[in-house]
Amino acid sequence: MAGEPQDDCLFCKIVAGHIPATVVRETDTTVAFRDINPQAPTHVLVIPKVHYRDAASLVAAEPTIAADILREAAEVASDDKLESYRVVFNTGGGAGQTVFHAHAHVLGGRGMQWPPG
Ligand code: 5GP
Repeated sequence: MAGEPQDDCLFCKIVAGHIPATVVRETDTTVAFRDINPQAPTHVLVIPKVHYRDAASLVAAEPTIAADILREAAEVASDDKLESYRVVFNTGGGAGQTVFHAHAHVLGGRGMQWPPG
C-alpha cells in the first residue's frame, strides 16, 4: 500500500533502525542523517518516514510531509550555520536518483557551481 515500508528499501531500513545512520534530526514524520558519501562538508539527507519513490509521489499523496521535509532541510542548514546551501531532489535515474525513497539532499559548506552537472 502507498506509504507503507518496503522490505527492499534501504531508507525504510534506516527509518526502522535496521541499518545504522548518523541521525542529526528526527521528527514524527521525518529523519535527517549524514550521507555516507558526502559531496560537501554538510551533506545531509532528509527523508519521510513513509515510503514514496520520489518527491513528486510524496507531495501528491502527503503534501504536509513534503512541507516537513523542506522545513527540516532549513533546520539542518541552520544547525550547521550555513548561510548558503543547496536542497536537491534527484528524481529519476537520469537525474542521478539511486535510492527510490523520496529524499532531499542538503549540501553546503563549500562554494558551488551553477548549472550543476
Ligand atoms: P540519490 O542518488 O538517490 O539522489 O541519493 C542517494 C544518496 O544516498 C547518495 O548520496 C548516497 O551516498 C546515499 N547513501 C546510499 N547508501 C547509504 C547508506 O547506507 N547510508 C547513508 N547514510 N547514505 C547512503
